[in-house]
Amino acid sequence: MSFRQCPNCKEKMNYKTKLTSVFFGYRPITCSNCGIVYEVDEKFRFILSLYTVMIPIILVYSFSAAAGIHSRWIQVLLVLALGTLGVLYAATKVRYNKAKHQPINENVNNK
Ligand SMILES: [Zn+2]
Repeated sequence: MSFRQCPNCKEKMNYKTKLTSVFFGYRPITCSNCGIVYEVDEKFRFILSLYTVMIPIILVYSFSAAAGIHSRWIQVLLVLALGTLGVLYAATKVRYNKAKHQPINENVNNK
């Protein structure tokens, strides 16, 4: 299950917001409607490192061996390209938890 809306007020969370959050080192996101802050799930950070680092390296390594590519530059470029795709994909799956420290008192904002 992915994080599509704010659990507190049901405000929709768009893909762009999540992508920006993931891309800039798991920046916490704030609900634009109720102001609750969400942090990227700890377990997800590990999964993301698989998508963006481990899987691209393994794929490029096997592909290079099969295709006879020996250029380090091409291999690095392929890893970066796959890593970018990994981020784009992971942003659709990202999960958030409510941050422990909220900038505002949520009870005041609950409707
Ligand atoms: Zn909200």
